Amino acid sequence: MPAPLHIPTPLLASRPLSLATGRTVWLKMEALQPSGSFKLRGIGLACQTYQARGARRFVASSGGNAGLAVACAGRQLGVPVTVVVPQTTTARALDLLRLEGAEVIVHGASWQEAHAHALSLLDPARDAMLHPFDDPLLWQGHASMVDEVAAAGLVPDAVVLAVGGGGLLSGVAEGMRRHGWDGVPILAVETAGAASFHAATLAGRPVPLDRIDSVATSLGARQVCEQAVQWWRERPVRSLRVSDASALRACEQFLADHRVLVEPACGAALAAVYDAEHAEALAGCQRVLVIVCGGATATLAQIRAWAAQ
Ligand SMILES: *Cc1c(COP(=O)(O)O)cnc(C)c1O
Repeated sequence: MPAPLHIPTPLLASRPLSLATGRTVWLKMEALQPSGSFKLRGIGLACQTYQARGARRFVASSGGNAGLAVACAGRQLGVPVTVVVPQTTTARALDLLRLEGAEVIVHGASWQEAHAHALSLLDPARDAMLHPFDDPLLWQGHASMVDEVAAAGLVPDAVVLAVGGGGLLSGVAEGMRRHGWDGVPILAVETAGAASFHAATLAGRPVPLDRIDSVATSLGARQVCEQAVQWWRERPVRSLRVSDASALRACEQFLADHRVLVEPACGAALAAVYDAEHAEALAGCQRVLVIVCGGATATLAQIRAWAAQ
């Protein structure tokens, strides 16, 4: 395998969070990946693999961190990238995609329409389509963050992460299996308006939400992947829902404590630790590892405007 496109990230013991919670809170700082989120781990590996199999262009239909990771990977590999995004995509996200050198096509009122257009552009002989969360190569790449934690000598009592479509959850669980951590619970956090994993745990299988209503846009998958539910069947995975307000407060507090701005999607995971109201979910856990998944698409002005609403 060639050198990975992601970087190893710092593992920090958070003094402010540890004092506030009476536990030792460890932070895996995926916000520091070159693309701004953990997604570069899995998407980087998938892009390298598809290039080795002959792909000459990468196509994506995400205006969020998945699209940014594809653009970043394509730039590093010298492979052209086309990202089709809906008209609702923010100017900030369009700027970031163009900064990475991607061709950006704005098409359709919703993600479904943008995605259908992306599929219509696909030439199977030379293009690879990158899915944002449902691809075993993504999970394999995401798992590398657990290898780094294990190499640092930390075995946590619980791992806290955000869940959107379930790619991060599937990758972290895969990494934990490699290191014999199947007994260590995962706390899978999402906002109440984007609770597709919670819905799946109630139904016992992935089910589509009628709609998404949350500022945590990166958690806005209407349905989680089957693999995420499979992990929930096989090992301890607890579902926790937090409010948008709580996720936004956690973004502000994390910025004050650690000088890093993250999206509300990541704020949701941090809220599980910051908010005393959720302490029950981590009862008995002394060493808690939080995956600071990051996210590049929200500005501080946007986070404050949402909080003011
Ligand atoms: C994609 C993303 C998530 C959710 O990951 P899934 O693999 O979809 O569950 C969480 N936070 C950020 C910042 C993301 O970009």
